[in-house]
Amino acid sequence: MRMPVCQGVHQGLTRTFHSFDKEGDHTATMLITNICSLPYQEVIDKSLLGELFHPKQFGDQVSTRYSIAHARVAAGQATLPHTLLRSSEVYYILQGEAMMHIGNETEPVSAGQLVYIPPGEVQFIENIGDCELIFLAIVDPAWRAEDEILGQPVSSSEDHDPFMTEAIREAKLGLSEGGIPIGSVLVRNGEIIGRGHNRRVQEGDPMIHAEIDCLQSAGRIGSYKDCTLYSTLMPCHLCAGAVVQFQIPEVVVGESVTFEGAAVFMRSHGVRVVDLNHQDCISLMNQFIKENPQLWNEDIGTL
Ligand SMILES: [Zn+2]
Repeated sequence: MRMPVCQGVHQGLTRTFHSFDKEGDHTATMLITNICSLPYQEVIDKSLLGELFHPKQFGDQVSTRYSIAHARVAAGQATLPHTLLRSSEVYYILQGEAMMHIGNETEPVSAGQLVYIPPGEVQFIENIGDCELIFLAIVDPAWRAEDEILGQPVSSSEDHDPFMTEAIREAKLGLSEGGIPIGSVLVRNGEIIGRGHNRRVQEGDPMIHAEIDCLQSAGRIGSYKDCTLYSTLMPCHLCAGAVVQFQIPEVVVGESVTFEGAAVFMRSHGVRVVDLNHQDCISLMNQFIKENPQLWNEDIGTL
């Protein structure tokens, strides 16, 4: 038997739930949202956006990872360059013609086409047609205000941290050897006392992560209490374990966009974790993961 159980208006958005019994006690629910009654608001990137489907609108009744917004950009207008730090996004163009800008790439897109935008890449879309540009913006994991910034993460020209520059140098050295581009340096009193990069592929040794290589190169240094460990990528649990074990008080990372790592674990043990959101580090890893998904999944243990 099928019957409507709820029809309501929430912030102007009509939602209809239908419930039907299947074999006695099992109940399934159909949820319908209605685009006609969607409220639109100008958002941070200057597009007109209606949140068509977001799991947080529906409490326990919906447990999807993604959210879907209905976006509109007037003729002759463009959205502002912006970046989703951790979520990926897909635009599905419903109406109009546009120029899509992602990182350094620009391509024309039109109705019926879909564009994928990786996390951490600066993006904007220009309406180059005569009519309103309309598209669906699907975000996974679901859109969160704190995940979106205007412009792009810090670029190397704005970042003058010489130790991160050295860690990046190590990462690129690893890449040139056919390895995974993650680099690390250990700093004490403004001086680099250890350095290394991921050499898992080069040496056929799963334990040689960048931070481990770096700590091994520093040798026995006694106390780490006045040391800072730099890494181009948020340390994994293996390396975070070493940080906690040796009581290294501070870790500075290039980014945690391409890999979430063990920030929560380190902070819960009192480690100060600074994330620079460094565009060079993000691009280095994005490019590597795109070209070597198998190697990367092996590295993080998700084969
Ligand atoms: Zn690691």
